[in-house]
Amino acid sequence: STAALAVDDLHLSYIVRGTPRAVLRGVTFEVRPGEAYGLVGESGCGKSTSAYAALRYLPGNGRIDEGRVMSNGKELTAMSARELREFRAREASMVFQDPVQAVNPVLKIGRQVAEAFEVMGQSKSEARVSALAALERVRIASPESVMERYPYQLSGGMLQRVVIAMALACDPKLLVLDEPTTGLDATVEAEVLDLVRDLRSELNSAILLIAHNLGVIRTMCDRVGVMYAGRIVEEGTVEEVFDNPSHPYTIGLLNSIPRKGLQKDDRELFTIPGNLPQIGDPLPTCVYVDRCPIATDLCRTEVPPIVPRSDGHWTRCHHPDRLDDIPEPVEISET
Ligand code: ATP
Ligand code: MG
Repeated sequence: STAALAVDDLHLSYIVRGTPRAVLRGVTFEVRPGEAYGLVGESGCGKSTSAYAALRYLPGNGRIDEGRVMSNGKELTAMSARELREFRAREASMVFQDPVQAVNPVLKIGRQVAEAFEVMGQSKSEARVSALAALERVRIASPESVMERYPYQLSGGMLQRVVIAMALACDPKLLVLDEPTTGLDATVEAEVLDLVRDLRSELNSAILLIAHNLGVIRTMCDRVGVMYAGRIVEEGTVEEVFDNPSHPYTIGLLNSIPRKGLQKDDRELFTIPGNLPQIGDPLPTCVYVDRCPIATDLCRTEVPPIVPRSDGHWTRCHHPDRLDDIPEPVEISET
């Protein structure tokens, strides 16, 4: 396969006090060269786990039970530690959910960015020049002075730019961004997203972008996978999935976006009733059955098939013909 990333029927557990807890229950998706693919879903559904599995950054208690991960024809799930280091140094980078954890608090920024180039074989002086250029590339206005600072001396948005600069050092074919704007205020978030969007056209890397904010996915991505309880339940181009959502969960998520016209402060989110299944619960059939407003007995007894909607757009639902029966959220009046 020539996909920048191909995750194929991945089943993954975390071992908790000796007991495996299933977290990914057959995740399949592909990020094509140059494409931005978004993974969206509520907290705990397995987005970060999928990202870690994609570059094999799994925590020690994570275990792949089934399935495999490929990148540009190479099987990550079969790489030795050395091959994996090489792969991460040359072909793929990850921006983790928390930028503070991605940097060393006691090293100056310049040293850390330069190191990203030194591991690729550049000399100290070459790496310094590259580091300056890398900081300019992420639109840092005064790279010389930022090089001399320590992480705690930078704002969250600035630090995230630095982390992105380090991730881009190897000109990755695949860039994985896990909630790159969590914890940033709205203005800074918009700036960081603008930056990633600009960089996309310069870089040509494939991007896997994880977010729980649908608006972010919509503006940044070409295709989206909607994840629920360790499975992708719907996939398609962002236009298709947002304009013609075809899984009850996706509809629930879209309904939970604050309605237009509401004042910022009295926005009220429509929340989907019920809770995520606990990790480790057996889930023989549809993962969404307990919260689904249109579930029937069939949904409890048979795994839903993948139902194509249009080119490349599919839903994993027994009743895509009954989506109109899903109640609209109650509009909150402005007066
Ligand atoms: P969020 O939006 O909050 O970042 P997520 O979709 O990224 O959520 P994951 O971090 O992938 O979710 O976690 C999926 C599930 O696995 C959660 O129930 C989480 O508590 C659990 N989990 C994550 N890491 C571990 C671990 N190392 N050991 C045990 N359980 C874990
Ligand atoms: Mg996460």
